Amino acid sequence: MFNLEKVKGKKVCVLGFGRSGRAVAALLARKGFEVLISESSPINHAEAYRLPSSVQIEGGGHSDKIFACDFWIKSPGLSPRKPELLEAKKRGIPVYSELEVALGCMPKKVRVFAVTGTNGKTTTTTLLGQILQLDAQRKKRQVFVCGNIGKPVSNCADAVKPGDDVVIEVSSYQLEDSTYFRPHIACLLNITPDHLDHHNGMKNYIKAKTKIFKNQRANDFLILNGADALCVEIVPKIKSRVKAFSTQPKHWLRTDVFFDGDEMVFSEGHQIRPPQLKGIHNVENSMAASLMALAGGVPAETVQKALDAFSPMEHRIEPFAYHKGVVYINDSKATNLDSTITALKSFDKAPRIVLILGGRDKGSSYEVLLPYLQTYCKRVLTIGESMDKIEKELHGGFPLLRCGTLEKAVQLAMQEAKQGDVVLLSPACSSFDQFKDYEQRGKIFKQLVEARIYQERTK
Ligand code: ADP
Repeated sequence: MFNLEKVKGKKVCVLGFGRSGRAVAALLARKGFEVLISESSPINHAEAYRLPSSVQIEGGGHSDKIFACDFWIKSPGLSPRKPELLEAKKRGIPVYSELEVALGCMPKKVRVFAVTGTNGKTTTTTLLGQILQLDAQRKKRQVFVCGNIGKPVSNCADAVKPGDDVVIEVSSYQLEDSTYFRPHIACLLNITPDHLDHHNGMKNYIKAKTKIFKNQRANDFLILNGADALCVEIVPKIKSRVKAFSTQPKHWLRTDVFFDGDEMVFSEGHQIRPPQLKGIHNVENSMAASLMALAGGVPAETVQKALDAFSPMEHRIEPFAYHKGVVYINDSKATNLDSTITALKSFDKAPRIVLILGGRDKGSSYEVLLPYLQTYCKRVLTIGESMDKIEKELHGGFPLLRCGTLEKAVQLAMQEAKQGDVVLLSPACSSFDQFKDYEQRGKIFKQLVEARIYQERTK
């Protein structure tokens, strides 16, 4: 574990003025550290005022002050090849992640649950959080859900008491930067190509993901996807107790749960119904969350109650409108190829989907989409920076309608879709070319559709 005592009295530089950077800076300032935040872009002054006044802030570039600090905390979004980070390495300045520093500020007797994987992290983390929260009502402890899910771990650190549970959604970026991170109950949902631009290739991406279990000990648990070839490949390196799940008939690991089409059947004898969520991938997310909870001693009845109360999450295969026999679905969170394929596979095998695809490219080839487009899609409308690349890599295998903007795509999608069809935004790309984030993209999509439906209904 990151040892707070060892660095007491030292000067810290937080590189990056993002949400987690600000949170860890405030946390360490409250603990009496001398903190400098250094950011290459101009600073948002409203956010700066919210920080303790003792925190020194520099924006619009990094000065030499950063090299006068004893240790650094790197914000997850920053490229590991950033020149300042390479220089810090040369000078032997230790660099930590926000995640491990925040955990180091918590009491020792805390159980840490961590969920990672290419897809399904937020859903699984939320499912697990709700199961543990329901279970905690019977006991005198609290459950904190944080991390990549939108709440920095540093924001929880002061409130966590001995005996509490911390559930963390962990991204590959956060893992890449961590040295000491050791979750007691961890889960690796799947590994498929994503963020290859940031990690400089698949090898580094896998290496980052495997850090979820690197420091685990023999009595810890790792929940693993038994049908995911890349997850299975890393098994020989694991020191903790492995529990595997799969919904697939073909898997390489002996699994601890299977799906009989109705219930999840666990090797320990429990039978639990998954929640009412679309797609077999959500059965997998439910298996993972349930195995984690059961490993943590939660009774099966409590798991069932929490799953029964779970409802679909915004931006994740979220049906939000129904008009003239057409269902409108927002899957803006599908920011990579695998999540879009997953979304398509959750529908009947018939070409009824009018798909809106594209955004900022993340470095994988769109060619893998082709058979799925041919099976499930009636029309494919492209938007954003990746339009040319998508066109090139599909080699004319599926006709594409270039729209450029989401607004244009919505207009054409609503003209194309007929009774019984589905209009699906599942972009397989990140949103940063035209939107602040995937949430804004999803919200705008819903507004555009709803406004047109309103117009049609009132004209
Ligand atoms: P993450 O936090 O990893 O991005 P989410 O739970 O937010 O994952 O889901 C994002 C999208 O990924 C969903 O809309 C769905 O299309 C896809 N997805 C969710 N769970 C899985 C899974 N277990 N396997 C593959 N794809 C999934």
